[in-house]
Amino acid sequence: MAQELTHPSIKNGWFAETSDTMWPGQAMSLKVEKVLHVEQSKYQDVLVFKSTNYGNVLVLDNCIQVTERDEFAYQEMITHLAVNSHPNPRRALVIGGGDGGVLRELLKHESIEEAWLCDIDETVIEVSKKYLPEMAKSYADPRVHVHIGDGFKFLAEYQNQFDVIITDSSDPEGPAEVLFQKPYFELLKNALTEKGVITTQAENIYLHMDIISKLKQDCSEIFPVAEYAYTMIPTYPSGSIGFMVCSKDPNAVVNKPIRFEWTDEYVRKNMKYYNAKIHEASFVLPTFADEVLNKK
Ligand code: SAM
Repeated sequence: MAQELTHPSIKNGWFAETSDTMWPGQAMSLKVEKVLHVEQSKYQDVLVFKSTNYGNVLVLDNCIQVTERDEFAYQEMITHLAVNSHPNPRRALVIGGGDGGVLRELLKHESIEEAWLCDIDETVIEVSKKYLPEMAKSYADPRVHVHIGDGFKFLAEYQNQFDVIITDSSDPEGPAEVLFQKPYFELLKNALTEKGVITTQAENIYLHMDIISKLKQDCSEIFPVAEYAYTMIPTYPSGSIGFMVCSKDPNAVVNKPIRFEWTDEYVRKNMKYYNAKIHEASFVLPTFADEVLNKK
């Protein structure tokens, strides 16, 4: 009989997401039905388990990346905030995003002719195809091009190529650290076309104001437009996660959709979180965060 898989982050049937540096003194816990995959890849510890209430869950280096139940809140927002802030988005790039969820959202836009993805870790793509099929289904689409490698190095080879670039990275510890630093944002700007837009995963306002302020500062020095938005999502630390949304065009408006190709019916059928109103609302910050991030 095959031995049941185990993982050090799972005790007495519960997974606990602990981090003494990123969220000290708290831990999101999910009840585990079955451990599906445990592997030390070349870059990170990879765990997939079936939870009792949140579907299958992908965990990298003990941090929850996606759960089947609430991933839409993140994938839809990080994607459509960028794409609907661009006048004519045709070529898009995802850095990270190995689960495939952002690709799935990009392909909901008819204007997107090519969707590229560069993830450092092929293992994440393979386990996602096996255990997160609803997210990874877009890998089969002919508009999708995949590159396995470091996002920083990949970007350095492209100038003036992408209308939209979405950085769907893990937290800034481990292989994603470089994706939170100023030189990376310089590369993003260079790789964008004239009116290019980026979004990037930008942590939680209750836990990481220091990281977010630095990101906002760096982005504002590089991009003429740099705004912070956020989404609610139960399984990310403290229940929400933010995004930097930046444009290369000094006249760009990113805090409302400038182009909306969908009917109400399409939105109701295809989106669970994103709509035109929430695009605008996601940039309205609680006072304590507004004070730090939007003070002139
Ligand atoms: N939405 C998730 C979150 O916020 O926690 C992130 C999901 S996605 C699975 C993160 C991906 O970033 C992983 O597949 C990881 O391999 C990839 N990644 C980390 N560092 C990277 C780098 N330097 N270049 C490219 N991909 C990277």
